Amino acid sequence: MIDVVVIGGGPAGLSAAVNVCAKGHDCLIITNDISQNPLTHAPRIDNYIALRGRSGLSVLQRMKRDAMAAGVQWKIGRALSVVPDDDHFVITVGNETVEARRVILATGVHAPQPYPGEAEHIGKGVSYFAFRDGATYRGKTVYLLGDAADMAQAALTLYRLGVDVTVFGKQEPPTLPPYIYFLRGTNFRITDGEKKKTVNLVVDEGMAYAADVVFVMHNEMLPDTLVSGLQMDGAYIAVNRQGETNIPGLYAAGDCVGEPLQIAKAVGEGLVAAQMAVASLDS
Ligand SMILES: Cc1cc2nc3c(=O)[nH]c(=O)nc-3n(C[C@H](O)[C@H](O)[C@H](O)COP(=O)(O)OP(=O)(O)OC[C@H]3O[C@@H](n4cnc5c(N)ncnc54)[C@H](O)[C@@H]3O)c2cc1C
Repeated sequence: MIDVVVIGGGPAGLSAAVNVCAKGHDCLIITNDISQNPLTHAPRIDNYIALRGRSGLSVLQRMKRDAMAAGVQWKIGRALSVVPDDDHFVITVGNETVEARRVILATGVHAPQPYPGEAEHIGKGVSYFAFRDGATYRGKTVYLLGDAADMAQAALTLYRLGVDVTVFGKQEPPTLPPYIYFLRGTNFRITDGEKKKTVNLVVDEGMAYAADVVFVMHNEMLPDTLVSGLQMDGAYIAVNRQGETNIPGLYAAGDCVGEPLQIAKAVGEGLVAAQMAVASLDS
């Protein structure tokens, strides 16, 4: 059991993780690869004190280096769910689970737009757990839909399990093996299937493809999809000044809790959330 898991390896998450370790607790960051962080697109940062003039990538790399030096553990992957369980949390990452006593969400603001019909069909033909649940669809028709970095890996895993898998998206995943079908489209819509608990995937308002399940693989999850019952304030996670969410033991920091969407604020909120999480462990 990890003391504190931080989800998201941007400035807020890295700051939170360093400050958890500074208080003598162990901390694991679960994050997409650094190349997927929006800050890597910034050619030059001029308003973050002491690192003026550096590129966003350089700032992030320095922050990561300092986090590693502080003893932060690191796991590359997409967190798919955070489930409270008595006095701790169970976090699903790909086909693995991690247990933590406290969780800090630092997932940034780049939440995906859900596909039309996605929300209405969750548990009724739409799922997010391709790695975990794929084996239960052996011999069935399964679609992977999205832009996540691990699409090809998920498709290959399902194919090897004997699942009839096809990948749908705007761009073919570069490492998708040629023997797994890929269907390109721009607009996707999920509708009721002919049979109970099946769905159709409508591509570009044309052909409808029938499936037993569509595993939606957004690169990031909406916060309240990631954590069921999480209270939102519009597009942002609702927190108090201590970074506490409505779920005991769950904190949030950085862009995911609101404006201004800036590094300095993210770093400060990461510190506050870390101190509150650690204080609750120590009390
Ligand atoms: C082009 C550009 C230029 C910018 N310039 C400046 C500037 O000059 N000065 C300034 O102060 N700010 C600037 N910003 C804003 C700054 O990038 C953000 O305010 C800051 O990165 C927020 O940090 P964060 O940690 O809250 O979120 P992010 O940096 O967005 O980090 C969140 C991380 O979590 C990951 N993640 C999300 N969900 C999951 C999940 N379920 N599982 C695993 N990982 C997940 C994301 O992939 C991402 O890597 C700029 C932003 C952009 C896009």
